[in-house]
Amino acid sequence: QAQSARLYTEEDPVVILSSDSLKQTVFNSSSAWLLQFYSSWCGHCIQYSPTWKALAGDVKDWEQAIRVGVLDCAHEKNFDICKEFGIHFYPTFRYFKAHDNTNDYGKTYHGADRELQTVRQLMVNFLQNHTKQDWPVGCPPLDPARPEDILSLMGKKTEFYTAVIVEDKDSYIGREVILDLMPYEGLAVKRTLSSDKLLMEELGITSVPSVYLFHPNGTHTIMNVQKRLRFFFSSFLKLLPGVHRKQSTSSLQRPQPGKNGLGTQVEWKVFEKSKVYMADLESGLHYLLRVELATHKTLEGEELKTFKDFVTVVAKLFPGRQSVVKLLETLLEWLVSLPLEKIPYDAILDLVNNKMRISGLYLSEQVQWVGCQGSSVALRGYPCSLWTLFHVLTVQAANRPDALANTGFEDDPLAVLQTMRHYIGTFFGCQECGKHFEEMAQESLNQIKTVDEAVLWLWRKHNQVNARLAGSMSEDPMFPKTQWPTPDLCPTCHEEQEGLHVWNEQMVLAFLKQHYSASNISPKYSS
Ligand code: FAD
Repeated sequence: QAQSARLYTEEDPVVILSSDSLKQTVFNSSSAWLLQFYSSWCGHCIQYSPTWKALAGDVKDWEQAIRVGVLDCAHEKNFDICKEFGIHFYPTFRYFKAHDNTNDYGKTYHGADRELQTVRQLMVNFLQNHTKQDWPVGCPPLDPARPEDILSLMGKKTEFYTAVIVEDKDSYIGREVILDLMPYEGLAVKRTLSSDKLLMEELGITSVPSVYLFHPNGTHTIMNVQKRLRFFFSSFLKLLPGVHRKQSTSSLQRPQPGKNGLGTQVEWKVFEKSKVYMADLESGLHYLLRVELATHKTLEGEELKTFKDFVTVVAKLFPGRQSVVKLLETLLEWLVSLPLEKIPYDAILDLVNNKMRISGLYLSEQVQWVGCQGSSVALRGYPCSLWTLFHVLTVQAANRPDALANTGFEDDPLAVLQTMRHYIGTFFGCQECGKHFEEMAQESLNQIKTVDEAVLWLWRKHNQVNARLAGSMSEDPMFPKTQWPTPDLCPTCHEEQEGLHVWNEQMVLAFLKQHYSASNISPKYSS
């Protein structure tokens, strides 16, 4: 059991089934299922598990149509059910149709290869094997639309976008993008074949695959993407104004966009996503120093050390306005000069709010979220600013290697990340977040050898959190959790290898170092 627990865990995007849940889950389900019956002692299964997890993550948004699961036949509890299903070899792949009430044991896949892209295309084929009667609920049509139906969209005003993927008959991109966009509203995605000459001429398309976009206002154009890859097409469509993830029933109870919890309108600030805003960083620091930490009456022991380390790293690396940096430096000098082992937090507040103000050192008490503003006051804001702050600090540590001289942190590539880890674990109000972050830190923080690797580690882990939170209640429908940076921000960061999206990490590093650099921080809206 210990080994199987290691092969797939609840953190993975796969559904873990057992004898208790298998039949009721896959028989007569509203979606189709692709299951891997494995054995935790089988070497192939162990080696294959990263691919299966990657596949499940890659098609997570398809779950209304088809889901990916696993069942461990080496678990004593599952011996009988594996026997009943006739599983003789591991791994065995079985496909179960949606709405199938025949209670048979699924169809086995004996394909030539088990590469991620092959299995993903197989899933599409499986889906298309459904008839009109048993078609999975929520799954849009996957067959090509007729050219005349596409042409009839021209000039029509609608409430949503229609994206048409024009492609060769053997291409899977259209169907994959249709499935990728399934949980999104505000647009319909269709596919049509490039074999119709008249259609190609009318749309002005000369190479495929291409996406042709019909706007709600009746206009229509070819969509311009840097690379003709599934990930680029899907990302661009998800980012269209007005397109967002459908809200779950629980999130429907959230406050309406543009309003705060009291129903009053919050003024919207226009901002650019390619910029970092000083107002977010300062508002975050204000909240951290005056609200989050102020819930602690006194700081002593590990708490005091964590606070001192935090102030050290921020005072030395924060690329802020002079009055704020000076305030942080003065706070640091004061902390270092105090021989006390226990500091009442009121003394810190007094210093920050009153004493330093006399010398013109001042951190605004106004909260102004800009890049971190949410569609309601309950969303985004502080946690967004905290991520932003720590990304800025890792990049500063990489760009200014001498900044931490004589602090005890010199030559330590982990200075910022360890400080963040301790801050999040000790003070961050969201305890669950702290627990998750600590798990990630324990797993791989010690592998980091350079300041550049630290920048990339934080980016990777932030994306891991984004993937986990996609579609959850903390997601702002106006700011869907995506793998970041999206292709519109950094086209060269994205590539495709054997049908799977991969990052070009060298490009990501260069992008992060530019995006979170001092010169990309906008002073707009800073009071
Ligand atoms: P955020 O995720 O806060 O991101 C802020 C900005 O950073 C984005 O707008 C984007 O510009 C940029 N960005 C996005 N991804 C990356 C990346 N990979 N690399 C660099 N920059 C990026 N909430 C939970 O519900 N459960 C948790 O377990 C949880 N853990 C958290 C752990 C930490 C350490 C922190 C700071 C927050 C955690 N949160 C958690 C909160 C959650 O991650 C978000 O911060 C919050 O939901 C607000 O989301 P957001 O849309 O503003 O984007």
